[in-house]
Amino acid sequence: MTARFFSATYREARQRFLDAAHKAGADIEQHVHPLKGAEGEEIATDTALLGRADADRLFIVSSGTHGPEGFSGSACQLALLQDELARRATERGMALLLIHAVNPFGFSHLKRTNEDNIDLNRNFNDFSAPYPDNPVYEEIHPLLVPTDWPPSPDNEARLVEAMARLAAQRSPGISSGQARHADGLFYSGTAPAWSNRTVRAIVRKQGAGRRHIAWIDVHTGLGPYGHGEKIFGRHSEATSKRALSWWGRDLIVSTNTDSVSPRTIGHITGCAPEECPQAAITPSTLEYGTLPSPQVRHALRGEAWLAGHPDTPAALERKIRRAVRDAFYVDADDWKGMILGQFRAFALQTINGLAAENDQT
Ligand SMILES: [Zn+2]
Repeated sequence: MTARFFSATYREARQRFLDAAHKAGADIEQHVHPLKGAEGEEIATDTALLGRADADRLFIVSSGTHGPEGFSGSACQLALLQDELARRATERGMALLLIHAVNPFGFSHLKRTNEDNIDLNRNFNDFSAPYPDNPVYEEIHPLLVPTDWPPSPDNEARLVEAMARLAAQRSPGISSGQARHADGLFYSGTAPAWSNRTVRAIVRKQGAGRRHIAWIDVHTGLGPYGHGEKIFGRHSEATSKRALSWWGRDLIVSTNTDSVSPRTIGHITGCAPEECPQAAITPSTLEYGTLPSPQVRHALRGEAWLAGHPDTPAALERKIRRAVRDAFYVDADDWKGMILGQFRAFALQTINGLAAENDQT
């Protein structure tokens, strides 16, 4: 039943989001991307704002920072737009901002990265300072992005050996981010990407004048099948205390070794305090498990290889894109039910948390 919120393509997801936002009476903005989608369609980061423009509390839900991870985030947003409890949040004096398809190019073309192979969740950093070195990534890069696709058995064996040797390294770890290999994985870019500039402008405008901002950025691809890990970065004691009081002790600090995610540099929610310095920010990443990590990694390696081989035959390209989609979006009813159920609980906890903040201040 919950499967009806999931779409088969970016184009379908966008249309359904806009239709539902319109029906819900949201203020809609469309930030059109300069490039086209996989079907030649217009692509955009769209926003829907519910509630009063001057509400002092704002709840943001964003999707598709990593392209096809947006199939799930978009479904969560669509469900929220039609959820009576969420709608009632606006009657409790808060506004709800849905940012649909942060990376519309990757969503449509089935790429986790953007149009320039940038991992957008490594791109929201301070480019006036050099991006930190990542010696672990340096070592593994030649094996991760092989010369041929599919990779040779020798390459696979050497990669498994290197991964095992480097597994204990988490800060920085392989996926923490790197700025030296534009053809590699987890590439930060060297300047703010279109999606970065767009999201910052949205958050700056919609967050202006708010006293409290909560933000959930929805991701997939790490952790056990269908499990949603509530990931929380390193924040001040007051912010951590507030987050724990809203979301409970299953909140996982990403700098802890028990998180499915490594410590990353330049993630999206980090822009909120920069764009809205007047507000108390409570951010989280919701990360859902899909397939076993070797399969997810294989798909990402294929994506990186493909970016460096534009003359790839169409059939092989389709196969690689399909593997990327399957690695980040499980097209099965049980999985979809888990995604939406956990999201709803997390969203309602956030709404209750924001409401309580108002009572105390
Ligand atoms: Zn992600």
